[in-house]
Amino acid sequence: MFRTSAPTAPPTPPTAATASAPGGRPDVAVAPVLRARRLVKTYGEQSTATRALDGVDLDIARADSLAIMGPSGCGKTTLLHVLAGILQPSSGAVDLDGTDLATLSDRRRTRLRREDFGFVFQDGQLLPELTALENVLLPRMLAGTSRRQAAADAALWLDRLGLQGMHARRPGQLSGGQAQRVAIARALAGAPSVVFADEPTGALDQTTGQAVLDVLAQACHRTGASLVMVTHDASVAAVCNRTVAMRDGRIEQEFRRPQQARPQAGGAR
Ligand code: ADP
Ligand code: MG
Repeated sequence: MFRTSAPTAPPTPPTAATASAPGGRPDVAVAPVLRARRLVKTYGEQSTATRALDGVDLDIARADSLAIMGPSGCGKTTLLHVLAGILQPSSGAVDLDGTDLATLSDRRRTRLRREDFGFVFQDGQLLPELTALENVLLPRMLAGTSRRQAAADAALWLDRLGLQGMHARRPGQLSGGQAQRVAIARALAGAPSVVFADEPTGALDQTTGQAVLDVLAQACHRTGASLVMVTHDASVAAVCNRTVAMRDGRIEQEFRRPQQARPQAGGAR
């Protein structure tokens, strides 16, 4: 049988981006947990359209931490929301463990957000009428966990994050840093595979913010959750292993930090 000889390139070791199992299915053991390809997101119509994402490719590895940086308006929040399945891209695709989010029904996508993802936003978005404990246990109960189990998990997480004795407080009775710890407990109590954080310390002073970040990064590290964090602040991005810099809806630069000792969490502020 006639065959052309293959070029004699050295075999390339599989990387997170290229490894796949026979049959073309991504191998979940090595494939990134989240993979975005050629993401475009346009808001508005024709003459008033804003291209918030302009062809973004991004892989997020299991248990890795990624900071998305860039000036205001460059598309960071849009990218986070598209990665988390909150927003649909205009074109391009996001895969979670090899499943294209666009192929899921709204119901399954909602369930996935509840069960596989955790969220921490700038102002915590805690429900003001509920106690710290109730804020953490509510999403667990919505996901089908019994109240008893959800309350036990919630209490454990609040204690881990330095909020002993504050379970019964309402958000109005907590400092900004404490409220963000409750939001982090809420994000992690469901054992998510990915935690998304959008400017999680944007409303805190520098010292409190740094302590909250350390808590967030350590909690993700400890549970093996990947962390995807949007920030415009380089000192915030520094808690992540990897940073991508965006400009005008594109990723312009990317770098990985050398492994370093993990910072110690401060006390609850
Ligand atoms: P960042 O988080 O980096 O500040 P955003 O992702 O919020 O940026 O916004 C990117 C661009 O998209 C900006 O020009 C912004 O004005 C625009 N934009 C964001 N959300 C909307 C929306 N819902 N409707 C129209 N334009 C939007
Ligand atoms: Mg934003």
